Amino acid sequence: MTGIADLHCDVLFKMLKAPGLAFDGPESAGLDVTLNRLKEGNVRLQVFAIYLPEDERMEPETVLREAELFWTKVLTAPGMRIVRSAGDLQAVREGACRGALMSLEGVDGLREQWWCLRLLHLLGLRLLGPTWNRANWACDGALEPRGGGLTGAGRRLVKECGEMGILIDVSHLSEKGFWDVADCSSRPFFASHSNARALRDHPRNLTDAQIQAIIQAGGIIGLTFVPWFLTERDSASIDDVLRHVEHVCSLGGERHLAFGSDFDGIDRYVQGLAHPGQYPALAEALLRRYPERTVRGMLGENAFRFLHKYLPQ
Ligand SMILES: [Zn+2]
Repeated sequence: MTGIADLHCDVLFKMLKAPGLAFDGPESAGLDVTLNRLKEGNVRLQVFAIYLPEDERMEPETVLREAELFWTKVLTAPGMRIVRSAGDLQAVREGACRGALMSLEGVDGLREQWWCLRLLHLLGLRLLGPTWNRANWACDGALEPRGGGLTGAGRRLVKECGEMGILIDVSHLSEKGFWDVADCSSRPFFASHSNARALRDHPRNLTDAQIQAIIQAGGIIGLTFVPWFLTERDSASIDDVLRHVEHVCSLGGERHLAFGSDFDGIDRYVQGLAHPGQYPALAEALLRRYPERTVRGMLGENAFRFLHKYLPQ
């Protein structure tokens, strides 16, 4: 089976909170995503989000501290390689190394300091979600009652990212923000960790119209293992993940489907899917329903194809 690509995890924020944690070795016990588990699960590409918890100072310094953790704790682990370009991605697909991609989940900490965005780009930032759940200087988030879209500065952000080769992640945006990005983005955008709203009516999930817009734009949708985005019930199973897979397929998204676990960002888990080492259980469940080629696509190839096409050469 092909290598797996996972579009979202929150390891960096956990490490910021608990500096003793390590991605590799015995100190990794407090993490969901560890080097060993990526190996166990055959995860070949993992996206690491820089997310600033709300009790931290929303400053460039905090953002850069997490970028530093990405470099000193993740990229120093044996066999890990940063992915900044299509060429890096190709090396990951063909070689024995594992790819790590840096993303930013919410630009609050940038404080509209464009030098900080440029510096992050130099440090490897290639994916960016303008906001987390609330409103900030760029956009309103999915849980912001006001429901506004991109601000003027937010539009500039989308444009600057397009020029730099940073892809826009719409997962946490308000609906208005989503359509504003669809309107002004010069490149395809993607959702790193969201599910189908038709099956679970939660503001963090995507409506059918949004899913279709991503498909039409040539983007990808990373379905996520956050139990409360999968079902209203108290516990979620792999079957619940499959229901969302089936729904996106029914909208024509078979070749636009991927996964973004949100591991290390959640405190409840899908049964049997509590860390990346358990990806094979999802692969088996998918193989019972879909042809191998389709499953390969969903688990990795769709994301690899999208990133290979739209990351800088
Ligand atoms: Zn998130």
